[in-house]
Amino acid sequence: MSPVALIIEDEIQMRRLLRVGLEGAGYKVGEASDGQQGLQEIVYQRPDVVLLDLGLPDMDGVEVLKRLREWSHVPVVVLTVREDEHDKVRALDAGADDYLTKPFSTAELLARLRAVQRRAPEAQEEPVFVCGDLTMDFVARTVAVKGREVHLTATEYSLLHELVRHAGKVVTHKQLLRAVWGPQAETQSQYLRVYITHVRQKLESAGRLIRNEPGVGYRLLTG
Ligand code: CA
Repeated sequence: MSPVALIIEDEIQMRRLLRVGLEGAGYKVGEASDGQQGLQEIVYQRPDVVLLDLGLPDMDGVEVLKRLREWSHVPVVVLTVREDEHDKVRALDAGADDYLTKPFSTAELLARLRAVQRRAPEAQEEPVFVCGDLTMDFVARTVAVKGREVHLTATEYSLLHELVRHAGKVVTHKQLLRAVWGPQAETQSQYLRVYITHVRQKLESAGRLIRNEPGVGYRLLTG
């Protein structure tokens, strides 16, 4: 059965462009031109993935996302323009799975959709997370690369744990700082630069695992 993608976007040109790309890749496509209609269509169509523009005429895209997340876990990729850096981060904090910055290519769009639909397994449901050469054992609280144990400090471990918990997804600076150092540290991005560097060095032999999303956060690559 074809996966269903719902586009919530007020610009006709952009909807048309997305529809062509999505249909070409075998998706069935639904459309909504504002937030209210978008929320209704999600109920009716039960899409497999949602493309959500943040600049909608009737309500903020982030508000649409917040309402949606009260009852649904459907993967959502938000569409933003370059100047929307702040909104992009708000959207990720509100439960978006990924974002695309306009203009983007169809190839990039489809790759992002495949990734969010693949939905990295919720690592915490399994006692051991394995991704390529990296193994993380949540019970023993150990990390190994190619079967060899790597010693992480408690802070490094909890930073990696937070990335692994959301493997494949962008975790914002704020989310990471809050999870590892607590809410009072939300603005201390320099902690992240230092500790991410340490973790990267220690996991170096596993290859490039942690990707920087400039101005937004970090992502654990899942292959
Ligand atoms: Ca718009």
